[in-house]
Amino acid sequence: GPTRRWVGTSWKMTKSRAEAEAWARRVGPVEPPVGVVPFVMPGFTMLDLVRDALGTGTAVRLGAQNGHWADAGPWTGEVAMPMLVEAGVSMVEIGHAERRAWFGETDHTVALKVTSAQRHGLIPVICVGEPAEVRAAGRSTDFVIDQIAAALADAPTPAEAVIAYEPVWAIGAEGRRPEPGELVDVFDAVARRWPVGEAIAGVLYGGSVDVDNAAELLGVPGCDGLFVGRGAARAEDFERLVEIAG
Ligand code: PEP
Repeated sequence: GPTRRWVGTSWKMTKSRAEAEAWARRVGPVEPPVGVVPFVMPGFTMLDLVRDALGTGTAVRLGAQNGHWADAGPWTGEVAMPMLVEAGVSMVEIGHAERRAWFGETDHTVALKVTSAQRHGLIPVICVGEPAEVRAAGRSTDFVIDQIAAALADAPTPAEAVIAYEPVWAIGAEGRRPEPGELVDVFDAVARRWPVGEAIAGVLYGGSVDVDNAAELLGVPGCDGLFVGRGAARAEDFERLVEIAG
């Protein structure tokens, strides 16, 4: 429902097994504020480890950073959604800017993956966001709306999806921390077109989030949570972000 708030982190290609286990053992028992849904997206090789270290009673959902659209078959190097389900995963990140830039992810493959995720009962976390040139040209809103529409083009309804708005100019080590005011128009346009509570379970912000700017970013109307990279690498910072979202 509309009262949920999501706080998630993707570890990208970071963390050893020992680091992952220590993080998950610490975060697993955390009791989030009412309505806050925490999630973590480790690398594939650490899914079982993190699932077990979070513990059976944990409030923290397990996610993967990618998944293939086919149920099974000759797709060397890929991981299918049913394999993720078997590993205890309930959410899957789809279409991160790094995958679009480096691994040929397109609006079309994103749509295929979203459909597959939903068919298998996984919540897709659909990453969208405009590059700096598009923002400079004043076309951010149209760009993001088009990306989401393409990602949801074939999606079965009323399955849940989470949108993560992650402007390319704001993510990663070269990213610039946004002013909340820079995000208002996009969140407003997305909320009008896809109100939370129908197919959309939440619209998150991602890009240079940390414990210092989390509260003001959550204050942007229509922002239902945070998707965090570097700023949640430390367990104590993730815990703090979960508290701030309450
Ligand atoms: C990201 O790359 O999706 C991201 C949110 O990274 P960071 O928080 O490190 O900017």
